[in-house]
Amino acid sequence: MRMAVYSTRPYDERFLTAANERHGHELSFFEPRLDRTTAPLADGHEAVCAFVNDDLSAPVLEKLAASGVRMISLRSAGFNNIDLDAAREHGLTVARVPAYSPYAVAEHTVALMLAVERRLHRAYNRVREGNFALEGLLGFDLRNKRVGIIGTGRIGQIVARILRGFGCSLRAYDPYPNDEVRDYGVRYVDLDTLFDECDVITLHCPLTPDTHHLIDEEALTKTRHGVMIVNTSRGALIDTRAAIEALKDGRIGNLALDVYEEEGDLFFEDLSDRVITDDVFSRLLTFPNVFITAHQAFFTEEALSNIAETTLNNVSVHERGQRSGNELTPEEVRGDA
Ligand code: NAD
Repeated sequence: MRMAVYSTRPYDERFLTAANERHGHELSFFEPRLDRTTAPLADGHEAVCAFVNDDLSAPVLEKLAASGVRMISLRSAGFNNIDLDAAREHGLTVARVPAYSPYAVAEHTVALMLAVERRLHRAYNRVREGNFALEGLLGFDLRNKRVGIIGTGRIGQIVARILRGFGCSLRAYDPYPNDEVRDYGVRYVDLDTLFDECDVITLHCPLTPDTHHLIDEEALTKTRHGVMIVNTSRGALIDTRAAIEALKDGRIGNLALDVYEEEGDLFFEDLSDRVITDDVFSRLLTFPNVFITAHQAFFTEEALSNIAETTLNNVSVHERGQRSGNELTPEEVRGDA
C-alpha cells in the first residue's frame, strides 16, 4: 500500500524502512506535521501514518479522504489528536499501536522523578563548571513516600511495580481498578483522597474531555503542600498556568514533564537558534525545581522497533481485508462497544 508518513524524523525513517522489509509497502516520508496545509502531500496515497502532534481533526480528515486516503495508521498509543467520528463519517479505518514498550515510558517516568528531586540537571552543569558545592541540591528519599498513580493501565502498572521496589507507599485512582495492580500493594482511592494523601502524583491516564486539566487550580488546592507532579502522559492533563502559580507559592515542590499542552509548536524540533515565543513554556524553564524532556519517554530502541512493526502490520492487515485488533472506533473508545 502507498503510505504518506508525516512528521518524519531520521529515526522514524530508519526504523520504518527496516520493518518495511517484511511488509513491502511504498512509503513516502514527509518532514512536516500533518495539518490542513500539508494534507495535499498525501495525494495518491491510500494510507497516512501520523504521530502525536499531527492534526487529524475533521477538516483534515475530510481532505485526506477526498484525495483517496482510506486508512490512518497512528504510530502512537495516544489518539487524542484524531476525530474518530469524522474518520468513520469519511470511511477511514484508524489503527494505533496500543502497546510498544510501556517499560520505556514507565522507566522514563521514574528517571524524571529522581532527576527533578535530586536536582540532577543542576548537579550535571555545576560539576562541568568545577562547582562542587551541594547547596541547592537537597533531595529526599523516595522510600516511604506516598505516590499516587492516576491511571493504572499498561504504563501505570509498571510504574507501580518499579516504585514498589523503591519502598514507596502506593495509592491509585482509575475508574477501572485492576486486581493485579492491588497485588503490587497499590490501594485504590478516590481522586480527592489521592490528592490529599500523596507526596508524589504521576499521571498515566489518557487525555479525554474528562481528564482535560485534571490538575487545575481547584485540584491544586487539594494536593499536599510541596507535592511532586510528574506527567509523561499528555500535556493538557495539567493546566500549565495553574501549575506555574502553584510553583511560585510552593504548593508544587517539584514538577517533571515529558509532555506540554502546547508542545505541538515546540517539541521534536531543534529551535536552539530561535526565540521561543511561548511565554508560558519559557516561564516553566525558569524554575530550578522543574525538569522537562521533550516527549522522549517512548524513545528507546525497543519501542521504536515495536512501533514500526505494529504500524506497518496494521496497514498490511487492513490491506488483506482483516482486522488487527488495534483499530479504533468511537464506540470502543467511549466504552460502549
Ligand atoms: P492504557 O490505556 O493502558 O491505560 C490508561 C488507563 O487510564 C486505563 O487503566 C484507564 O482505565 C485509565 N483511565 C481512563 N480514564 C481515567 C480517568 N479519568 N482517571 C484515571 N484513570 C483513567 O494506556 P497506557 O498505555 O498506560 O498509556 C497511558 C498514556 O500515556 C496514554 O494515554 C498516552 O497519552 C501516554 N503515552 C505517552 C508516551 C510518551 O512518550 N510520553 C508514550 C506512550 C503513551
